[in-house]
Amino acid sequence: MIDETQEWKDKQELKESHERFRKSFYNNPIAQIILDSRNRNIKDANEQFLALSGLTYDEIIGENISSAGITPCTEDMGKYKLSSLTEHGLNACEAIMRVKYGDEINVLQSYVSIKLNGAPHELWTIIDLSALKQAENHLKHLNKTLEHKVYERTQDLTRLLEREKLINDLKARFIAMASHEFRTPLTTILMSADLLETYLKNNDVAKCAKHIRGIKAAVKLLTEILEDFLSLNSIEQGLVKPLITGFNITDIAGKITDEIGATLKQGQHIAYAHTGPELVRQDINILKNVMLNLLANASKYAAEGTTITLTTSVKKDNILITVADSGIGIPEDDQPHIFTRFFRARNAEVLQGTGLGLHIAKKYVRLLHGKINFVSKENVGTTFMVEVPLLK
Ligand code: ADP
Repeated sequence: MIDETQEWKDKQELKESHERFRKSFYNNPIAQIILDSRNRNIKDANEQFLALSGLTYDEIIGENISSAGITPCTEDMGKYKLSSLTEHGLNACEAIMRVKYGDEINVLQSYVSIKLNGAPHELWTIIDLSALKQAENHLKHLNKTLEHKVYERTQDLTRLLEREKLINDLKARFIAMASHEFRTPLTTILMSADLLETYLKNNDVAKCAKHIRGIKAAVKLLTEILEDFLSLNSIEQGLVKPLITGFNITDIAGKITDEIGATLKQGQHIAYAHTGPELVRQDINILKNVMLNLLANASKYAAEGTTITLTTSVKKDNILITVADSGIGIPEDDQPHIFTRFFRARNAEVLQGTGLGLHIAKKYVRLLHGKINFVSKENVGTTFMVEVPLLK
């Protein structure tokens, strides 16, 4: 009697246990299947699994595990390694699961070994990691974007710092130039004005005239410096636009040599030669400006009595202008910098100058899509070459 009651109790307990398992299997919010370990066929699947795989119950039951899209975990799949496989099952392993229509999703698989009717089976649990992966990828993407932004900002900052450094450098060079180049003519004007007062009292007309010339020359110099600043500003503001007209280049060269002739040093003269056609189309004012600048430098940096050679040649596609002198030349170390604004070679410091002329000349030549180069040897001489396109 006791045995029968016990048997009944055992049966009841088993029934309840089956019921508990059934409920936890079918109502589990996580996908689960039961696999027959002997042939690896699927014995049962819950709703969650069907929803995940996109297959119907009939399509799955009795089929091999691989037809349910479950692929084995591999060593390199995610952080849950195959090493988590134990004799009791698989702890947790990241894998790819093929779902209906060939899509693949990331899943976390685990199983425990169970016995069903005495036969070895596996209870598989499959967790969909798609949302997690998506979030991970999104985070990676955000990280990349952030990294890129940080890189861009750093670049911007570096550029700003470099610009700031350049501006400070320019300021320092401007102050050095201005304090010297403005002070000299201003001192001349002040001294000449003082002397004028004295000579006026003494009625010394000749000396008065000399100092008036001195004042005029100093004012002219200041005006030229100011004009250089203004034209540089206009070019940089994009206010200077080339104005193309037709003209005879030899006429222009003649006019320029006449114009500058009055300012040449004692005994200096300009030898001019031209080759090729004479009628050209270009911006006459820009070319004049560049030629005047180069000729003025040639005179300034060469000694009295020397010859300055100006040549123009018109070729098939371009106009070539050269200005050569036999002056102090440019020291090799300084040559890479002479087109930099305010730069003055060390052998030129005793002579008046702002270090702006060549910088402006280069900007002008660039406006015409041309180029300016030079060859120079210290104490031998310098030749500047300007090449601009010949416009039709
Ligand atoms: P500036 O003559 O007013 O100093 P530029 O910009 O015209 O300024 O020239 C820059 C520098 O290039 C000069 O200070 C000088 O050192 C050098 N340079 C220019 N032309 C000549 C030349 N013909 N011979 C020797 N040095 C020259």
